[in-house]
Amino acid sequence: MARLSRRSFLAASAALAAQPALGAPAPGTGPYDVVIVGAGAAGVAAARRVAAAGRRYVLIEAADHVGGRCITDIRTFGVPFDRGAHWIHLPDTNPLTKLTPRGGIEIYPAPASQKVRIGRRYAREGELEDFLAAQVRATRAIGDAARKADVACAQALPNDLAEWRSTVEFVLGPFASGKDLAQLSALDFARAAERYANAFCRQGFGALLAALAEGLAVQLSTPATTIDTTRNVAVETPKGTISARAAVVTVSTNVISGGRVRFVPDLPRRQLDAFGRLSLGSYDHIALSLTGNPLGLETDDLVFEKSADTHTAAMLANVSGSPLCLIEVGGAFGRDLSAQGENAMVDFAGEWLARLYGADVKKSIDRASATRWNNDGWTLGAFSAAAPGGESMRRILSEPIRDAVWFAGEAAHETLWGTVGGAWESGERAADAVLRKLGPVKEPAPAEARPAPRRRTNRTAEP
Ligand SMILES: Cc1cc2nc3c(=O)[nH]c(=O)nc-3n(C[C@H](O)[C@H](O)[C@H](O)COP(=O)(O)OP(=O)(O)OC[C@H]3O[C@@H](n4cnc5c(N)ncnc54)[C@H](O)[C@@H]3O)c2cc1C
Repeated sequence: MARLSRRSFLAASAALAAQPALGAPAPGTGPYDVVIVGAGAAGVAAARRVAAAGRRYVLIEAADHVGGRCITDIRTFGVPFDRGAHWIHLPDTNPLTKLTPRGGIEIYPAPASQKVRIGRRYAREGELEDFLAAQVRATRAIGDAARKADVACAQALPNDLAEWRSTVEFVLGPFASGKDLAQLSALDFARAAERYANAFCRQGFGALLAALAEGLAVQLSTPATTIDTTRNVAVETPKGTISARAAVVTVSTNVISGGRVRFVPDLPRRQLDAFGRLSLGSYDHIALSLTGNPLGLETDDLVFEKSADTHTAAMLANVSGSPLCLIEVGGAFGRDLSAQGENAMVDFAGEWLARLYGADVKKSIDRASATRWNNDGWTLGAFSAAAPGGESMRRILSEPIRDAVWFAGEAAHETLWGTVGGAWESGERAADAVLRKLGPVKEPAPAEARPAPRRRTNRTAEP
């Protein structure tokens, strides 16, 4: 998702150095100090933090790979295809870029400019200025409205956006937030950190996250079915019950609201409401491999359409210099389209390109694949966006349950929600809170100090 609009290398080394003593025995052999549920960005960050503190932990993941919504697929096209997150927002302060391993991973700045297609031609400079001015006016109006009341962003839009209204609505709504502006809290939108500066990872953002998970004690294909806090924490999985003193739970808001994990006792109404008000929007990539650069675009060119309605998309062309073009769909339109299936999505992308560049371009489509995050049973959507009146719910997600369960994940970050960096920071914060509760580590008895056999179970996913 592109928005128009910490931690040092030493910490990473410390975390990795701590790992050999923390290899994961099979579930059921606890008790652990901490069980971390979900190996996306938040879970990986939490596990590194807990490992660095010398605590016994286990990281369990329902899927057969780490990464969650930040995963690189290299099999489908033979080049890296980020099925989820691709843009590294605010690279200068992004915790993942700071931890990037020295070898094998290259981060480079994203081009700052964007193009707008008006029918079969590009917008001229004056038109682009009008478009950008309309975006600025709309963003300011939402911020002004949010200072008075947490209304829907759509309610706050100025009336004079004229011919750019529909395009601005797409850019600020489905493209930036996965929801239409009528479903978006003005306050949540206004509090979100600016995300103008961006970078890309040539090997894929998911490959970077997978590299940061290297060596962690992960149990893959181990979904938590029940989290029981009646006495300490007992996490039931199909492979057995894991006992721990505390849990960090990083599954998406829709997974919790959808009842995919059972809590005993039930979650308090306050938390359930918060998960519901922070539901995930819809956002998908329709990836097309185009032979011979038929669009004549540069590496990582970002193109919008001057649209008249919601049936529109954005395109990130020639991803990292490859023939891959990502057609981005989201919001209510994207949700309906993805419900129709992958073929309908690919057809839409072909027609959209034909509308903007001529019918011949369809002949250049070599291979195609579309993500359908709403149908991914371990996620059930793209990223959280607060409903009007729901901004304060993000803080509620950070409150512990019975001093035993801490929630983390992108939805729990008040300004970097919907991003990998936000998920990472929230995972670290939850881990810090758990470590404070556990107190200082006691010196291990001599027999316990021996390193457990090391297991490296994670890998870059190839769905
Ligand atoms: C299409 C798309 C594009 C995006 N683009 C960007 C972008 O460009 N830049 C950006 O910064 N962010 C982007 N995002 C958002 C970003 O991917 C997420 O904010 C971030 O990856 C969320 O991390 P997380 O750890 O909170 O959650 P997740 O990544 O969802 O991790 C939760 C993990 O829990 C696992 N799980 C679920 N249920 C269970 C269970 N019962 N037991 C055990 N494990 C379970 C899941 O399999 C998953 O691995 C995008 C997201 C999508 C979908």
